[in-house]
Amino acid sequence: MKRVGAHVSIAGGVENAPLQAATIGAKAFALFTKNQRQWRAPKLETSSIDAFLKNCNDGGFKPQHILPHDSYLINLGSPDTGKRQVSRDAFIGEMQRVEALQLTLLNFHPGSHLKEISEEECLRLIAESINRALDVTKGVTAVIENTAGQGSNLGYRFEQLASIIDQVEDKTRAGVCLDTCHLFASGYDLSSAAAAEATFCEFDRIVGLHYLRGMHLNDAMQPIGSRIDRHASIGKGTIGVEAFSYIMNNPVFEEIPLILETPDSDQWPEEIKLLYSFEH
Ligand SMILES: [Zn+2]
Ligand SMILES: [Zn+2]
Repeated sequence: MKRVGAHVSIAGGVENAPLQAATIGAKAFALFTKNQRQWRAPKLETSSIDAFLKNCNDGGFKPQHILPHDSYLINLGSPDTGKRQVSRDAFIGEMQRVEALQLTLLNFHPGSHLKEISEEECLRLIAESINRALDVTKGVTAVIENTAGQGSNLGYRFEQLASIIDQVEDKTRAGVCLDTCHLFASGYDLSSAAAAEATFCEFDRIVGLHYLRGMHLNDAMQPIGSRIDRHASIGKGTIGVEAFSYIMNNPVFEEIPLILETPDSDQWPEEIKLLYSFEH
């Protein structure tokens, strides 16, 4: 089964995320496990965790269908030793929250070199950060998201994702989330079914489709190769519907979270229906 969902809100507590997901007809969801714009967060209350687990069970959401996303403040490849340490500590905290919620995936953006160190050095620091987090946690896979390549963000080439994974010691706990808007913005063509096929074949050759743990389904505001990260609603952007139809009909994408991060949350029920209508 295809597991289409959206990145839902945790207003009122994490336990509300699966309830909101069920309301919009989602079969998967993404969430922040804390306020993503702050470094610190209160510990998750046992009552909140219990309610989260119950609501996930009631909604039919299994851990592999739920894709927590870390804070945007974290830069695992920061050239600054102090800032990198703060990021590493926060990242471990994020993994521990995922563990506490009995989940198995943590989605994050690799990191930025801030034009102060080489790409290669930054990728090495990112992998080292991942290794340290995996060493002190259990059962959570580090799910690296490809980026649009805006600013000095790395992870916009498949070779960069492969380089990070190559340097991760426990590859059983390394994964990838591909964001369609980021793919298109970084120059990977998705404008037709054939183009999508070629892009995912290239991903398989350089990284390996067996690392794929989730997808972010977003159309793009800008043309291919813009390196600008601006999401659009499905079918209302520069990618168009063909790539999404390709994904909905390809067994590679079964049983992994296919998450909308599109700008208008009021449209999510319609977008989810639209994506399921592509299945033949
Ligand atoms: Zn992301
Ligand atoms: Zn994304």
